[in-house]
Amino acid sequence: MEGDTAISFTVLGGGGEVGANCFQLCFGGHQIIIDAGTHPKKEGRDALPEFSLLNRAPDVALISHAHVDHCGSLPYLVRQFPGVKTHVTTPTFRIMDRMLHNSVAVMTTIARERGIADYPLYEHEDVGYAMRGVKGHAYNAPFRLPIEPFAEAEFRMGGHVLGSASILLKLPGHTVYYTGDICDTPQELLGGMQPIEDGLEVDTLVIESTHGATEEARVKTYPSEVERLGESIARVVRGGGTALVPSFALGRTQEVLNIIARLQDTGKIPDVPVYASGLGRAIYELYNRFEDYLLPNAHLQPLDRFGKIGNVWEPTIAAELISRPCIIVATSGMMLENTPSAMIAQEMVKQNHHGIFFVGYLDHETLGYKLLHSEPGASMSFGLGREPVEVKLQNIDRFHLSAHAPRAALTRVIEKIKPKNVIYVHGDPDAIAWMQQHTANGCRSYAPVIGQTVTLGA
Ligand SMILES: [Zn+2]
Ligand SMILES: [Zn+2]
Repeated sequence: MEGDTAISFTVLGGGGEVGANCFQLCFGGHQIIIDAGTHPKKEGRDALPEFSLLNRAPDVALISHAHVDHCGSLPYLVRQFPGVKTHVTTPTFRIMDRMLHNSVAVMTTIARERGIADYPLYEHEDVGYAMRGVKGHAYNAPFRLPIEPFAEAEFRMGGHVLGSASILLKLPGHTVYYTGDICDTPQELLGGMQPIEDGLEVDTLVIESTHGATEEARVKTYPSEVERLGESIARVVRGGGTALVPSFALGRTQEVLNIIARLQDTGKIPDVPVYASGLGRAIYELYNRFEDYLLPNAHLQPLDRFGKIGNVWEPTIAAELISRPCIIVATSGMMLENTPSAMIAQEMVKQNHHGIFFVGYLDHETLGYKLLHSEPGASMSFGLGREPVEVKLQNIDRFHLSAHAPRAALTRVIEKIKPKNVIYVHGDPDAIAWMQQHTANGCRSYAPVIGQTVTLGA
């Protein structure tokens, strides 16, 4: 019977964009949700996946990692469909709890400051309720899904951030491999994704495409970019300035702090104070707790080596912080308005002896991208209700310390797995277009956008 093996894949978010990742798999009357994110640039209900496409409760939800573009809407989903059980890796369980409670705090602040009616999308109690239905699993330990006949899932080390996973789903008559966000090479603390074994049979591969449009020549190696970043930071602090590294709270912050500490210990960066912002510190504690998941030779520094930044929304505090040479690692990585990195940058750009160094993905519509590409003397506002300031600072640069695999590595994943179907997600339209044109390699290929369904044969 055709219905036994036919499976459909619907994009609720994260198709043709790096957005609110959320995908629905339907087969034989069952329904699985993979990831339930919020859109990093959108606000209110617009930041949610298209949950209106769900007409009944999913059987189960699987979350690949704790970045909010993959887990930020889970409390909303579970409130809508009480009782839905969710599966994650053991570290993601702890990190996601912190990230979701932080999201409530951020949304509440935005609601107060700007009166966005939909915010917060959920409350702390909703996070608590959703988390009670979450189960943490070890890597490479298949577990049964509440689906008859037999179906199982397994998390595999994604190498992207602590706890990140690819998901192997063995469904009745159909195997799906969802890469999630992956990084193929070692970073400062994480060892990269686990190799895909020979002979793994996969019907459908769902692959991230973040770097699909980034030419290989522009992809620098991690060690060479670490060295270049170290030299840039050293130059700024030797000249009496402050170096700001805007970083995602989960992943980049812990990596960059340990890079800086190592370069200070080896004399490559002067021994000036290093500061880290709030959520990045909270997640750092979990890196400490799950040290076994890091590279064996990763010497995770004690968190108290790094100072707290204080209330930088107060311009005098931000100005005081940068009045002496120091290094600051602060969220958000894309420097969204009103975040600590934006508030510190607002003071830094008024002078020309500092340095701002981006290290991660920068969406073209974000403040960080605009600042990186601003002309000297441009006038920019760093937060709602804040007066625009003149950008005198010219030392604004970008370093490729990405935690996402370059497209050559994504291509190798497809070549290794040789799936029957490949579905490209999690990328800007040009990235996805390049991937589909150059890497499908004889597989049936799909690039669905939000609301589109792909029907897959086994
Ligand atoms: Zn991620
Ligand atoms: Zn992502």
